[in-house]
Amino acid sequence: MPVNEPEKKKHVPEGLWTKCPSCQHILYKQELAKNLHICSKCGQHLRVGARDRIAQLMEEGSFVELAADLKPKDVLGFSDTASYAQRLKDGQKKTGMKDAAVAGEGLMGPHRVAFCVLDFGFMGGSMGSVVGEKISLAVEHAVKEGLPVLIVSSSGGARMQEGILSLMQMAKTSAALARLAKARLPFVSVVTDPTTGGVTASFAMLGDVIIAEPKALVAFAGPRVIEQTIRQTLPHGFQQSEFLLKHGMVDMVVNRKDLKATLVKVFGFLLKARAKKAEAK
Ligand SMILES: [Zn+2]
Repeated sequence: MPVNEPEKKKHVPEGLWTKCPSCQHILYKQELAKNLHICSKCGQHLRVGARDRIAQLMEEGSFVELAADLKPKDVLGFSDTASYAQRLKDGQKKTGMKDAAVAGEGLMGPHRVAFCVLDFGFMGGSMGSVVGEKISLAVEHAVKEGLPVLIVSSSGGARMQEGILSLMQMAKTSAALARLAKARLPFVSVVTDPTTGGVTASFAMLGDVIIAEPKALVAFAGPRVIEQTIRQTLPHGFQQSEFLLKHGMVDMVVNRKDLKATLVKVFGFLLKARAKKAEAK
């Protein structure tokens, strides 16, 4: 279920400036982009769109997109406060994407990597049949080509407007990753703010290595829902990256400025271990 975007509550006119959701500092958008969308005042990691994420992580000009023409369909004719068809149109207009994921392959340092990234700007990065298919395609491409996989998530979870079809994507993406594991190819999952619901409950938590950005909310159900259900106050920082690291849910919390270098190192390590094992056989 898509979570509410906090940006909507702020009253900064669209244009050159934006407000940091954490410290309320006014930020010049161009400077913010140069700083990888990290607040220069408080270090808060703001959300990054799919195209920006590709530019941040892949070597320039190396990214080749897979299934760029894949389009979502309103199979159920679903409507809540707005029709699904309208929500899709709005998302497409806002992001210039057909759905909430971009899949493909590119170079990271010396490594060819199959890559999929979710964009929170498109219906809260929710996973419908197109997002599930794109992730599966990227993983299948990796199996075929013998590549490691990187998925960067930011998502409100399964897309309720597609009903059972969206829930099926959890099984589908997990099955694709099981085939990747069978081929002994590494999968690194990067979870960013927020990663929740059916995405956390499927591929995002299946990484051989799971890396979180600082202070990201990573959860199945959000803290408010849990508090209402168990009628207890939750500990400070519950479901945030640093808390999850302490409790063994993620392997590393990495500043966005160090993310690419860390990933290149992790892939190098995992691929070397795989090659050694193959040699020993
Ligand atoms: Zn800030």
